[in-house]
Amino acid sequence: MLSRHTRIAIIGGGMGGLTAAIALTKIAGIQVTVFEQASRLGEVGAGVTVAPNAARVLERLGVLDRIRSLGAVPDGHGVYLDAMGRMVTDAAWEDTAKQYQNIGMYRPDLIGALADEVDPEVVRLGHRLASVEAVDAGVRLEFEDGTEEVFDAVIGADGIHSVVRRAVDQHPEPVYSGYIVYRGVMDASRLPADWPMISQVWMGDSRHFMCYPLQQRRLFNFVAGVPSDRPLNGPWSGPAEVGELAAEFAGESWDPRLQNFISQIEKTFWWGLFDHEPLTNWSQGPITLLGDAAHTMLPHQGQGVNQAIEDSMALATFLAAADDVGDIPEAFRRYTAVRMQRTAILQNGSRRAGAMFDAQYEFADLTKRDADIRVGRDFRRGAVFDYDAQKVAEQALGRFRKVQYA
Ligand SMILES: Cc1cc2nc3c(=O)[nH]c(=O)nc-3n(C[C@H](O)[C@H](O)[C@H](O)COP(=O)(O)OP(=O)(O)OC[C@H]3O[C@@H](n4cnc5c(N)ncnc54)[C@H](O)[C@@H]3O)c2cc1C
Repeated sequence: MLSRHTRIAIIGGGMGGLTAAIALTKIAGIQVTVFEQASRLGEVGAGVTVAPNAARVLERLGVLDRIRSLGAVPDGHGVYLDAMGRMVTDAAWEDTAKQYQNIGMYRPDLIGALADEVDPEVVRLGHRLASVEAVDAGVRLEFEDGTEEVFDAVIGADGIHSVVRRAVDQHPEPVYSGYIVYRGVMDASRLPADWPMISQVWMGDSRHFMCYPLQQRRLFNFVAGVPSDRPLNGPWSGPAEVGELAAEFAGESWDPRLQNFISQIEKTFWWGLFDHEPLTNWSQGPITLLGDAAHTMLPHQGQGVNQAIEDSMALATFLAAADDVGDIPEAFRRYTAVRMQRTAILQNGSRRAGAMFDAQYEFADLTKRDADIRVGRDFRRGAVFDYDAQKVAEQALGRFRKVQYA
């Protein structure tokens, strides 16, 4: 067990950084300090799905009941539909044991529930990291206001533009997918009559529309993916006109029921979709990465936050087995070995899912596309939702111990 005087800094107070703070404190008994550049903890007003693989972790961290009470569990499995609303296949929505279901969360509610579990004294707002450097005494952090601090180790949970990533081996540039999404939430009272309380993905020619309930069904989330060259020369997100969104799904090739849904939307914003190639390394000595900093992925499998939550539990499990500060680089190395492989599969899978939803490449043949989506459903339930990040880390520790002490 690490001494309680061990000092670990987490850069970034997003969903990944806050979950890491909870896991390191509760599972490994470590004191952390979270540095967040913004002046308050917050999130965009849109939805996110907490999947069974993350719900399992959150239950062990003691936050799942709160999250369930704030979120919305759908009525049953989701559906993939073609542009005219014909069913392609049902979608996985729970693990094989039927213990955990997808939970639709309003992002500000999720970040609030996580923040409530972190001692406010350890969160340092308004601290924008400028650089990181390994030094004899640990890791030196320099902030944009010119101040410096030294910690025993640092975890970069600072998102797609991660500064910490620059200190770790390679740092690929984000890759633009050629797509933006129109995102937002609508009040459930505006839903067309009998709109089902499940997740739906409508897939048409080069665009798709996804929606699901949030916040005890008071809100409904929507995400509409359309091709665009907009982010290439400008900002990555911004306000958008509902009329632009409606025009993308106008015409006879889209079901009037979906058009009716879109006509009820009052407000939306656009967001460019980026990911990066899987990294070849996440850790360098006492410096490691977590969440989007380590593995930004496209949102088409709804796994970005869920993987950050898995990362947090795995990292805490490896750190809980460390005896002193000198063991931290080895704990980070083991964490990297376990997590890099899993998240690379999901990064690649998310690109493929996007190509399927939007009928790109080989999926322009819709018969093939639909067959592949059916196969993907079973993979999702087994390999994605049944995964137990803590168990996998513990098994890896056992294996390492056996090798070490045999
Ligand atoms: C349309 C869309 C839908 C999505 N849906 C889902 C979904 O259903 N399920 C899912 O699991 N994922 C989903 N995702 C992905 C998910 O949003 C991200 O994976 C997740 O937010 C990443 O969390 P993070 O904490 O790693 O990074 P971030 O949320 O980016 O947080 C990083 C934090 O670090 C701070 N920071 C950055 N730089 C610095 C610095 N230099 N110094 C100090 N602080 C810094 C930032 O201010 C921020 O608070 C979706 C993404 C999109 C675009």
